[in-house]
Amino acid sequence: MDVSSLLDGLNDKQREAVAAPQSSMLVLAGAGSGKTRVLTHRIAWLMQVEQQSPYSILAVTFTNKAAAEMRERVEKVAGTNMGRMWIGTFHGLAHRLLRTHFQDAGLPQSFQILDSDDQVRLLKRILKSLNLDEKQYPPRQAQAYINGKKDQGLRPKHIDAGGFPIEQNLLKIYQVYQESCDRAGLVDFAEILLRAHELWLNKPHLLAHYQERFKHILVDEFQDTNAIQYAWIRVLAGQTANVMIVGDDDQSIYGWRGAQVENLHRFLRDFPTATTIRLEQNYRSKGNILKASNALIANNPERLGKELWTDEADGEPISLYCAFNEMDEARFIVGRINDWYEKGGNLSDCAILYRSNAQSRVLEEALLHKGLAYRIYGGLRFFERQEIKDAMGYMRLISNKNDDAAFERVVNTPPRGIGDRTLDILRTTARQQELTLWQACLRLLDEKVLAGRAASAVRGFMDLIVTLQEETQDMALYRMTDTVIQASGLKAMYEAEKGEKAHARIENLEELVTAARTFEMPEELEDMGELNAFLSHAALEAGEGQADAFTDAVQLMTLHSAKGLEFTMVFMAGVEEGIFPSKMALEEGDRLDEERRLCYVGMTRAMEKLYITYAESRRIYGREDYARPSRFIKEIPPQYVDEIRLKAQVSTPMANNRFSAQKSAVANDTGFSVGQRVHHPKFGDGKVTNFEGSGAQARVQVNFSDFGSKWLVVAYARLEAR
Ligand code: ATP
Ligand code: MG
Repeated sequence: MDVSSLLDGLNDKQREAVAAPQSSMLVLAGAGSGKTRVLTHRIAWLMQVEQQSPYSILAVTFTNKAAAEMRERVEKVAGTNMGRMWIGTFHGLAHRLLRTHFQDAGLPQSFQILDSDDQVRLLKRILKSLNLDEKQYPPRQAQAYINGKKDQGLRPKHIDAGGFPIEQNLLKIYQVYQESCDRAGLVDFAEILLRAHELWLNKPHLLAHYQERFKHILVDEFQDTNAIQYAWIRVLAGQTANVMIVGDDDQSIYGWRGAQVENLHRFLRDFPTATTIRLEQNYRSKGNILKASNALIANNPERLGKELWTDEADGEPISLYCAFNEMDEARFIVGRINDWYEKGGNLSDCAILYRSNAQSRVLEEALLHKGLAYRIYGGLRFFERQEIKDAMGYMRLISNKNDDAAFERVVNTPPRGIGDRTLDILRTTARQQELTLWQACLRLLDEKVLAGRAASAVRGFMDLIVTLQEETQDMALYRMTDTVIQASGLKAMYEAEKGEKAHARIENLEELVTAARTFEMPEELEDMGELNAFLSHAALEAGEGQADAFTDAVQLMTLHSAKGLEFTMVFMAGVEEGIFPSKMALEEGDRLDEERRLCYVGMTRAMEKLYITYAESRRIYGREDYARPSRFIKEIPPQYVDEIRLKAQVSTPMANNRFSAQKSAVANDTGFSVGQRVHHPKFGDGKVTNFEGSGAQARVQVNFSDFGSKWLVVAYARLEAR
């Protein structure tokens, strides 16, 4: 490939960045202005024009999906396979580093990753052992405390809790938690980064080696790096590496996780020779979408300030749909996608974005109902499902008996008569004598502290693990997985449970065997053995890569996971006060700006068409709420928006009910007629006073004796004639 083609398809500013002399650089620009494109072209440029080895390049981005896309884009531009080149997420790269240098990092070779759920379980146990009340110290809060400290690079010894009892206790929890992780050979996500950073600080020879190696460091989505990530890059770069960072302050959406826009300023201070390049042309979105996004984000104070423009036509306005409830919303969205699909469009060009993972279930159901393939990124991940984690728990114990989190998870799943009391004794012993739970079992059995039924139950469990370990040693991974699922009793347990949910769990367990069978060993993990590689894969990828990339499927994901991506058609669902902005953001004033940035991220994912939907009432998190449209909707100037109305809307004011006779005839469509007495499971008895719409969208107005007048969607209201 010749040099000029590396610069093809770039504007002047972009070229300036791609072809800059070797140096540090900040590319600061809004959504869709080609930042990622510049970064990938720059990598190709370094290799082809500057003759730099792929070996000398380190590229970091935010999600596994984005990393895979970046690798793909670079391979396309450079025309070669990047094989072992270090492109990945901060966590992925740091994990790779720890795997390679586990000894220097003070970890056992078989160390495993402790995910968020396991972390909470472990914390619960620790709270108990410290006699702290879960109500006063909610485990999730302790988790946030620990992760927050780690994100700032702080170990317990660095923290001064002062004279504050709560802070002192949190610190104590952190301490005990860390000790048990260390004993069990477990690292949580924040720990991965912290250890990787400490590796630089504590092992100068290693640092020197990598500094010598990585002459070029490139970071995408820089606005979302946190303190420890920045420090890691900063130290690695040393005095000599060229660091290129690209980012957009308007898309900083991880403030709650410790990411800091200030890192942008810090970078300019730490790398004083860095040049700043701004890009202003947006190539992604049609005019209306872009202008609406610009208008929305203009409501935020304290922006570095930049306005994007586009050469593109205005395109269609943004469509706004007000649904009756979450099911109507899902049906509307799926209907539009189906239309698009029937006209020959690809499903994978459509994305449904939502604020919280819990929103996906209804959308999934509607997609299933229509028979449209879909894929979920993040959340509801295969490897996060209960039964999968149970099976993986056994496999983790087989790999490392001291894995306390795995031990806790499966010791009594399926139930084998190891009661809470026995577990309490185990935990207390483990804690007092600084042992892992497995070691505590051995000791207690040895000393005959455990006796009778408890002892034989514990012994039975330990025998099971040891036998499994021996028997599966030489098996192929998938056979091992299958053996574990059967021999552990997990499968039998769910089979006995019956019902749809249990059935789905069995299917998932079966799917796990498939996952093991199709598992491809990543090159960089080759030396760690298949089982360990598979376990790490499960913890790290957690579903992001599990779906078969070749099926054409609708893309479902949270707004957070959509960062950096683009789709022809985007649906933003559930744009309601209390959902988006979230309830939590509404309660804490300063989080509102971040929610708005998230909205900006969501809107700017759309290339051709953007739909925004909200519902008047919504069942979510097990409750039913009446909602108001999000303030963000009101912040979009009306000239860019087209409100979709019901086709067959008959809206006659109730007082003006002269046509009731005529209406009763039409009302057959709803199955109710004006004047009819009805009963509602929640609102009780009432009388139909009006109706509108038809088919699935038919609504009736009912005057309830206890609740007054309400509009209800006939299809969902569970109204009964009296
Ligand atoms: P985000 O902030 O959302 O991550 P970004 O700034 O990284 O966006 P890219 O994803 O690199 O933007 O680019 C957005 C789209 O515009 C992509 O489809 C890209 O291929 C295209 N694009 C970028 N620059 C140009 C250009 N000079 N000519 C034509 N298309 C371009
Ligand atoms: Mg990008």
